[in-house]
Amino acid sequence: MPKKTGIVKDQRYLQHSAGAYHPESPERLAAVHAILDKPAIAQKFIQLAPREATHKEIEMIHAPSYVEYIASTAGKDCVYLDPDTATSPESYEIAKLAVGGLLTAIDAVMQKKVDNAFALVRPPGHHAEYDRAAGFCIFNNVAIGALHAIKKYNLKKILIVDWDLHHGNGTQHSFEDDPRVLYFSTHQYPYYPGTGSLQEIGRGKGEGYTINVPLSTGADDAAFVKIFRKILKPAALQYKPDFVLLSAGFDTYFQDPLGGMRVTPKGFAALTRIMLDIAESCCEGRFVVVLEGGYHVMGLAESIKAVLEEMRGDTVCAEERLAAMEKEAGAVADNVIKQVTAKIKPYWNA
Ligand SMILES: [Zn+2]
Repeated sequence: MPKKTGIVKDQRYLQHSAGAYHPESPERLAAVHAILDKPAIAQKFIQLAPREATHKEIEMIHAPSYVEYIASTAGKDCVYLDPDTATSPESYEIAKLAVGGLLTAIDAVMQKKVDNAFALVRPPGHHAEYDRAAGFCIFNNVAIGALHAIKKYNLKKILIVDWDLHHGNGTQHSFEDDPRVLYFSTHQYPYYPGTGSLQEIGRGKGEGYTINVPLSTGADDAAFVKIFRKILKPAALQYKPDFVLLSAGFDTYFQDPLGGMRVTPKGFAALTRIMLDIAESCCEGRFVVVLEGGYHVMGLAESIKAVLEEMRGDTVCAEERLAAMEKEAGAVADNVIKQVTAKIKPYWNA
């Protein structure tokens, strides 16, 4: 039996423009839609209609004054929020729709309308901080999503995995001292935004609940699979999340113009399977993906298709296949696994 996989897909997400020639372009989602709209594929997934998030929901993570500031950009041609992040007249509305798209996906899973879901939204979110936009991000979709799941459904523990090329500084900072969220990130390092060192493990009550895996360029499918199996999986199974969220950036794709990683669509499917297994073991398979980066337009579309097929169970990257992939990982992966497992040893048996 295939799983019921929801997709939040809406033409309005193409209305936000960060400026001509900006890598975070509407063409990214247009390419994804073109693949998913093919009749043979479209009928496989359950369309979920997004709503706009309210200020109250956004203010679970962001300063009210910041939300007002973004609201004040509505209707204006172009406002630069940071050197990389600009708005178009529609951005305020579409940023609210991006948050709301993820909340819709989470609600659909919690209310068992679907087994899992992918929110195909833009602008992305994981760099957005409490009171400022950063790195193409306006509101921190995944951070708001985690608190929504906690508050609306009384969940106790949320796992956020962030495989985007870049470190999710905003997400980490939102939950640094909060054990209700385990944040696990793999990212190119040192690189934008500069955070995400091995030393950043959370603080206060959240100490140990941030796991950073900083990577040099060149990490491939095998390296990522091994890192997910040797670090993420054991830690996650001990944490026993009530819900699994994935900040899915596809800028680790082997041809991405902004990144230096070598992940292929098969690799993304394999990593998805590892997370589906975690969700199956811990929380009845509750798993929601939200789009972050990914700037090779065709690569993005192919990779998202591969992830969705794995979520639905059209492809199943079996345990033997994962084990075989892991064996291909090189010494660089082993080295970072050794460093991270040593660092998190006081908290997790990885
Ligand atoms: Zn990124």
